[in-house]
Amino acid sequence: MNILSDLRARTCPVCGAGPDRANLFIESRIDPVRLSAESFASRKTPEFMSYELVRCSKCATVYAANAPPVEALADAYRDASYDSYEEAQLAADVYATALQPHLKAEDRNGTALEIGCGNGAFLETLRSLGFREVVGVEPSRAAVDTALPNVRSLIRLGMFREEDFAPASISLICCFQTLEHVLEPKLLVNAAYQLLVPGGVLALVTHDYKAWINRMLGRRSPIIDIEHTQIFCKESLQYLLSHAGYDAIRISGINNRYPIRYWAKLLPIPRSAKGIACKALDITGVGDVIFGLDVGNILSVARKPN
Ligand SMILES: [Zn+2]
Repeated sequence: MNILSDLRARTCPVCGAGPDRANLFIESRIDPVRLSAESFASRKTPEFMSYELVRCSKCATVYAANAPPVEALADAYRDASYDSYEEAQLAADVYATALQPHLKAEDRNGTALEIGCGNGAFLETLRSLGFREVVGVEPSRAAVDTALPNVRSLIRLGMFREEDFAPASISLICCFQTLEHVLEPKLLVNAAYQLLVPGGVLALVTHDYKAWINRMLGRRSPIIDIEHTQIFCKESLQYLLSHAGYDAIRISGINNRYPIRYWAKLLPIPRSAKGIACKALDITGVGDVIFGLDVGNILSVARKPN
């Protein structure tokens, strides 16, 4: 299915407000010729293509005014390429460090679920944190194919579906760098609420379109992307989580740590110049140096009330 052949008008995917509350955020820019299996891959080289994005004046969410149906997105993510094994491990370490202060000893007695687990790098971390049972859901076959044998059995290949899990059975649900990619983020957060045990934790990592770097880069920011059917800020995440019934909501910035080679990939410069820069980084070995950067990512942690 062509991802662009059947774009459908949407209301705000967080608060449901209609077009009368939507103001243009960024105009559509899509070159169908450049769409490929890499377009829906994790940590790809930015393509600077996006749907028309509007900003909701009720909840501050930025969202695609028209987006493909869920079946087309499922196909695109199933067939997406994957080549970010090292970056996935580094991201898992960052998320673990950021999440640990929010977890109580009793949280770890139960089951942890990660929605959009990629190659399962964070599932291993969850096991080392002491969770009794660990499950991941991931739609991309290529990502799951790179999972280590000891975590492959923990991953269910396909889209997340609430009905695949028992209600009130999970103590931690993680959804990292995935909520921008789903068609119905409100349904996902509501489903997580149903699946969590009373007192259970939902942890989200998302971009923040209001972060200084994203405001500075504008259309050249990697978050303005065809993979993102919505983009959040702290205000819209607070709205999303509080209206779904969560409490103890904590939203804070996190610094990602990646090799210089990866950061260079994100630079808003032409592809040819980027290719030369990346080659130079590889030849000199500088590309392997790892450092942390505030690129406007945020961790939101919330609990289902007891
Ligand atoms: Zn809204």
